[in-house]
Amino acid sequence: DRIIASSATGEDDAVEASIRPKRLDEYLGQKPVRDQLSIYIEAAKGRGEALDHVLIFGPPGLGKTTLSHVIANELGVNMRVTSGPVIEKAGDLAALLTNLQPHDVLFVDEIHRLSPVVEEVLYPAMEDFQIDIMIGEGPAARSIKLDLPPFTLIGATTRAGLLTAPLRDRFGIVQRLEFYTPDELTRIVQRSSRILGIDCVGEGAAEIARRARGTPRIANRLLRRVRDFAQVRAQGHIDHQVARDAMEMLKVDPEGFDELDRRMLRTIIDNFDGGPVGVESLAAALSEERGTLEDVIEPYLIQQGFLVRTARGRIASPKAYLHLGLRPRQPHAA
Ligand code: ADP
Repeated sequence: DRIIASSATGEDDAVEASIRPKRLDEYLGQKPVRDQLSIYIEAAKGRGEALDHVLIFGPPGLGKTTLSHVIANELGVNMRVTSGPVIEKAGDLAALLTNLQPHDVLFVDEIHRLSPVVEEVLYPAMEDFQIDIMIGEGPAARSIKLDLPPFTLIGATTRAGLLTAPLRDRFGIVQRLEFYTPDELTRIVQRSSRILGIDCVGEGAAEIARRARGTPRIANRLLRRVRDFAQVRAQGHIDHQVARDAMEMLKVDPEGFDELDRRMLRTIIDNFDGGPVGVESLAAALSEERGTLEDVIEPYLIQQGFLVRTARGRIASPKAYLHLGLRPRQPHAA
């Protein structure tokens, strides 16, 4: 597994739970999102209504699930957690919806993976707090309408473009999470260190933050691995040098790239003359899934200007050449 994988893999759940922010003021960074949501939450509470449905999108590990928990906490309601692929049948969704208390939150991760049949049931549920369910089978089957308690659906997805238009249109609040700045991630690392009792001082935290690809989940994971290193090699004390040495051992370079990132840039440069190369060809050359490239690897490379996405495919930027110790090719029209 990649140490800098942005998806949740084999994390220690108890540790996870202890460092996961619970209130809006513990949720660091994402200021525009926090500012807007705090107003919507206060307004909904003031009116005694359920909060409008919320769509949160952004790359894995940026805090979509965490933000949903925070919203439910701030609303003072319970949250049920599920995900698109888990809801197989219309009846599964009906069971979830009919068990909600008024104003509760239903969190649906990977909402773009709902089946079309389930999506159809969701539309009237979101719009009118009603569902049609089939009772019985064969000729005796009939459809009945059920009223639902007013609830808030929070949907999370890696890219808004993956949703069907009718589903997207039913969210009153749409929020996009951005990669975190090194300063924001430094504060997240410092906060996690405090909670976990890790001795991680100024530049040590900053170094971990700089290599965390703008992603809190990666920052927290790197912190735990650097803690192991520090415990064995530096009496548990994480400073700048210890953080750097640990990262070298983990093969996470100063940009926060690992073998796979470098291999991707290298492949574009070596096999495709720097690009443009279509994502399918690139995925085949790397033996990776297209979705992994699009959701997990390239967003950060693009945001940092190492990779350019054009209509004809991906291009390695001069920054990519320099990072790999190569001389940039003459720029050509994209
Ligand atoms: P996603 O659902 O987008 O994949 P998560 O919500 O699971 O991401 O976040 C991953 C981890 O990163 C969380 O367990 C949490 O500890 C941390 N985290 C996420 N967002 C923040 C934030 N804004 N401030 C502090 N920690 C955060």
